[in-house]
Amino acid sequence: MIGQKEINTVGDAFKFVAKKLFHAGIDLANLEARLLVSKTVKTSPEQIFLFPEKEISASELKELKNSLIRRCAHEPIAYLMGEQEFWSLRFFVSSGVLIPRPESEIIVEAILNCVPEKDISYRILDLGTGSGCLLIALLSEYSSALGLGIDISKCSIEIAEKNSKINGFRKRTKFQLGDWTMDRDKFGGPFEIIVSNPPYVPSSQISALDPGIFNYEPIQSLDGGVDGLSRYREILEVGLALLSESGIIALEIGIGQADKVIDIASSLGHNLV
Ligand code: GLN
Repeated sequence: MIGQKEINTVGDAFKFVAKKLFHAGIDLANLEARLLVSKTVKTSPEQIFLFPEKEISASELKELKNSLIRRCAHEPIAYLMGEQEFWSLRFFVSSGVLIPRPESEIIVEAILNCVPEKDISYRILDLGTGSGCLLIALLSEYSSALGLGIDISKCSIEIAEKNSKINGFRKRTKFQLGDWTMDRDKFGGPFEIIVSNPPYVPSSQISALDPGIFNYEPIQSLDGGVDGLSRYREILEVGLALLSESGIIALEIGIGQADKVIDIASSLGHNLV
């Protein structure tokens, strides 16, 4: 795929990778080429432009070729880079966790709007924590809060722990392997803040997801059961048991699910904000 004879410098590699990505239908081909080359040669993306004449070794070229093949097959760039930014923080990701999405920042914003007092020692619960991004973003805002992240996947717990450490929140976070339908008595609480980005894609629509999502991201983080709403019923019930008296729950929902999730919440007796 990459003829090593013609590609001797990072500049050559960048041009080659950008072209291949473009032809594979990758939207941000230039940007991604810069990221992939810079990761491979362990430098910053800017250096690729500043020093295009820097040599690229045969082993780096081989590694780059592997990344290129994976990206051309539409593996998400975040898995190839091993990280994703969320709430201006860096999160380590691997194929065992859902990649943090910019739209999930709305959950953090919603909590910030509803809970303006920042230096109280809130207890925050994140159900289905994945990479830990929601919980860690909230802890970055609420400087005295303590967070508990629950996930059914061991891999997620390991990654979330790593993320709390690299972002400096290890002392204020705890991650616990568990199933929120069975283990909620072990979560402690009550919690002033509960958040979740649960799996909400109806099972029948999973195979129609973008192949970059369907083929690479953990289905268990996406599949919300027959109507996509199963996890909301469970979480809102957990909320009844574990939320403090004036506590608040913020949940990410899929398109078209708002009315149904509101119905579930009201029928359980939650007040809507
Ligand atoms: N937003 C995700 C998607 O792109 C779904 C995430 C979820 O189910 N929580 O499909």
